Amino acid sequence: MPTALDGRTAGELQFYGIKYYMGRPCKHGHSGLRYSCNRSCVQCHEERAPGTRHRKLTRQIKRMTDQIQAMQHHIHRMESAHGRAD
Ligand SMILES: [Zn+2]
Repeated sequence: MPTALDGRTAGELQFYGIKYYMGRPCKHGHSGLRYSCNRSCVQCHEERAPGTRHRKLTRQIKRMTDQIQAMQHHIHRMESAHGRAD
């Protein structure tokens, strides 16, 4: 597992050559992890297209989701502490 979050903007990371970011939860109540290229929900995509290489990443994606959310909380706290949000 690369340390993909190092030096990235909040919530965006690259994994296996695919870029992801953390957006709003989708209408199906998924976590909000989305492809940067087309902004579609990663979990919805997997459910529609079982057997693709993405499906194999399901467990890893869920772990990534937790990581991103934790990082976003951390960044938000740091920004609040410095009183700026650029
Ligand atoms: Zn979804």
